[in-house]
Amino acid sequence: MPQASADGQDGQPRAASPAIDQPAVFCPICQKQIFDLASALAGKNGGQPVHFDCALAQVAESERLEADEHIAYIGHGSFAVVTYRDKSMTAFSIKRRIPWEKEGEKFEWRRTIQQRMGI
Ligand SMILES: [Zn+2]
Repeated sequence: MPQASADGQDGQPRAASPAIDQPAVFCPICQKQIFDLASALAGKNGGQPVHFDCALAQVAESERLEADEHIAYIGHGSFAVVTYRDKSMTAFSIKRRIPWEKEGEKFEWRRTIQQRMGI
């Protein structure tokens, strides 16, 4: 007769949050806590993390957009003014790039996140 485990519990403690040992990070733009650091961008002042949405709002404020122009995030810390080629908004043309983070700049807080996520 094989011995079956009766309780079915592995006894592993479940972590309440994977970022439990991280100090709370607050966005300098809206002063609210940033829970999703992985999607945060480095802020203009000293590279502290800011909400992606806050960065996007600041970019949109500083740009004078034509009726058919939109702000889109194109990766690598850059936004762009784009125009969509059709109504599905899947294809767009980049009219001008708006660099947000300094290209190639590394931030300590992001490295910590990336190490945590195993990137
Ligand atoms: Zn914010």
